[in-house]
Amino acid sequence: MRRSKAVLALDLGGTKILGAVVGPDGAILHTEQVPTKANEGGDAVMSRLAALTQQLQAHAEQERQDILAVGLATPGLVDSQAGRTIGPVSNLPGWGDRAIGPELSSQGNLPVQVVNDANAAALGEGWLGAARGCQNYLMVTIGTGIGGGIVADGRLVAGAHGGAGEVGHMVLERNGPRCPCGWYGCWEALAAGPALEARLRASWPGPGSVPKLDALCQLAKGSHQWAQAQLREEAELLALGVGSLLNLLDPELILLGGGVMAAGGETLLGEVQAALKRQPTTFPPGQLVLAKLGQQAGVIGAAYAALERAGAKLKR
Ligand SMILES: [Zn+2]
Repeated sequence: MRRSKAVLALDLGGTKILGAVVGPDGAILHTEQVPTKANEGGDAVMSRLAALTQQLQAHAEQERQDILAVGLATPGLVDSQAGRTIGPVSNLPGWGDRAIGPELSSQGNLPVQVVNDANAAALGEGWLGAARGCQNYLMVTIGTGIGGGIVADGRLVAGAHGGAGEVGHMVLERNGPRCPCGWYGCWEALAAGPALEARLRASWPGPGSVPKLDALCQLAKGSHQWAQAQLREEAELLALGVGSLLNLLDPELILLGGGVMAAGGETLLGEVQAALKRQPTTFPPGQLVLAKLGQQAGVIGAAYAALERAGAKLKR
């Protein structure tokens, strides 16, 4: 049997680490998942990443695959040149200001490319997802927080300190609600999952328990007035941020992904498009689309970063 080439891709999340062996064409050849157990601290998380890397390497060896490099998607600000996280990383104690790339590289003897998780998702969507072939686009991930990745002229915009694309902390309301970042009125504090859930809890007329977002969409389709109003409110808040980003970046496409969009789907997307139409913008609402890769966006993007690091010529 001939040997083939592949990369390892790791996506570190607050609750789980997803690892994959990925072929040069982006095919996911094998996956493994372990819990993050973030509360055990940075050293423990690093050990789990190293162990997962070894398991994936062993599996690749069985399959006669030569691993070229490792791509690691992580929350927090990242200095990709140095493979370091910068500053504290929310939900991952002991993960900030840490040379995770060199640490993992010394244990696994492979080059490691570190990339911010929202940026990885943007890269993945551009390679194999909803922004395939697109040179100027923006990916916005709406879940527990709001993250973003900006691709301009086919390149990821990292910024001078690795902090570009933190779209969730655009301030949209002076004296607005407090944000996990410590400031007030950020887009994230107004429109991410926890803010939406709080609005639903505060206004639910009953009876029974407060519906989740997917149930809310079903109710709205069935002309439930409260559900329609709540969905419209969320869409207006999302469109506020999207409209600002349009003015700033003039992209070809904006992709919306993350847990809130996964639950809201086409129904929520349609409401955001309608809200955008009411704004003074010439952006075609049809260019606002749902991301395609879902939970795999991070590993696909990490694999892309690893292949770039290994010098592979990538078509996009
Ligand atoms: Zn903020």
